Amino acid sequence: GQCITHCPVAALHAREDWQGILDKMADPDVITLVQVAPAVRTAWAESLGFSREEATPGRMAAALRRLGFDYVFDTIFSADLTIMEEGSEFLSRFDSLKEDGMPMFTSCCPGWIRFVKTQYPQLVPYLSSAKSPQQMFGAVSKTYFAKVLGVDPSRLFCVSIMPCVAKKHEADIPTINAAEKGKDVDCVLTTRELARMIRADRIVVGALQEEPFDQPLGLGTGAGEIFGVTGGVMEAALRSAYYLITGKNPEPDSFREIRGQEPWRESELNMGGTRVRVAAVSGLGNTRKLIEKILRGEKHYDFVEVMACPGGCVGGGGQPIHDGEELASVRGEALYRLDKKNPLRFSHENPCVQQLYKEYLGEPLSEKAHELLHTDHNSWHMPGEYKE
Ligand code: SF4
Repeated sequence: GQCITHCPVAALHAREDWQGILDKMADPDVITLVQVAPAVRTAWAESLGFSREEATPGRMAAALRRLGFDYVFDTIFSADLTIMEEGSEFLSRFDSLKEDGMPMFTSCCPGWIRFVKTQYPQLVPYLSSAKSPQQMFGAVSKTYFAKVLGVDPSRLFCVSIMPCVAKKHEADIPTINAAEKGKDVDCVLTTRELARMIRADRIVVGALQEEPFDQPLGLGTGAGEIFGVTGGVMEAALRSAYYLITGKNPEPDSFREIRGQEPWRESELNMGGTRVRVAAVSGLGNTRKLIEKILRGEKHYDFVEVMACPGGCVGGGGQPIHDGEELASVRGEALYRLDKKNPLRFSHENPCVQQLYKEYLGEPLSEKAHELLHTDHNSWHMPGEYKE
């Protein structure tokens, strides 16, 4: 996903975004929250001269606090939440999808959403209605977390650090934001912009002690970590779908067949007697080939993960660029290591997500969950999109 490089207009926007955040930080009435996507932790200090071993998520959290954010949270929390919603949605749609002979497609990649809306509008109804982890995080922070703090949501300013340029556009989709509480996410910075801020603030990464993320929106499982690598969303979803279907946890690595750097991988699984056919694809050229096969009836799947950037978000257009080097696969390996090290490997076992359902949302796909965590991608249009 090398869609933007060193464009001066982008640099100008970045400065405006950063200035906007500084203004909010300086305002005593405003509480600033930041969330960091999984892929960012694999690359944030590459251009600052630190190895992946030194640039731990704990040091990244410390750097974000030095920059001045009031709360440092983690998108892997809402990645787990996405699995709860999207996994439940998949099971509830399973029979009707079978009848149509079509899969459900993931919806967390705005590059893919734009592609499908302009190129294959007939497939939009087969997108999951789950919002992406970035948007779910914002919606939960402006409602549930505002309640936890006992403040009006209008006092919260929600920033996200993303590996992705398209996430800036996603935060602006008008119908994604529930009207009464304002935008889910107020400002999106890329990994490259974060590194620039750290440099501008003269923060010495090597001198930082590791710090934990804030709670309750800072705790995520290994399943949430692997969202940043191609196949990871599918693997995380399968771990929880298996539990939902059979009532038992699978061995956490049992769906590793879906990992890898080939343009697309597929797998056929037996889940307590139910046959589930899945695929994960990355890169829009590969995606087009896969879709054409599905439309010609040459391939049949129940659930398909699509990531626009080759290798997934670790190779995203907002990540550091090193001429002639493609780092998506080493960054992806770093996420698999974090997954393995995490004491929690299943999204449905995230205690903070469980608490959120208990105290606020009820259960996956509840009315409240629908209102905050789902969206209809049919309900907005973009230039060039085919309309009936
Ligand atoms: Fe963004 Fe690329 Fe990740 Fe899609 S795959 S969400 S375009 S970084």
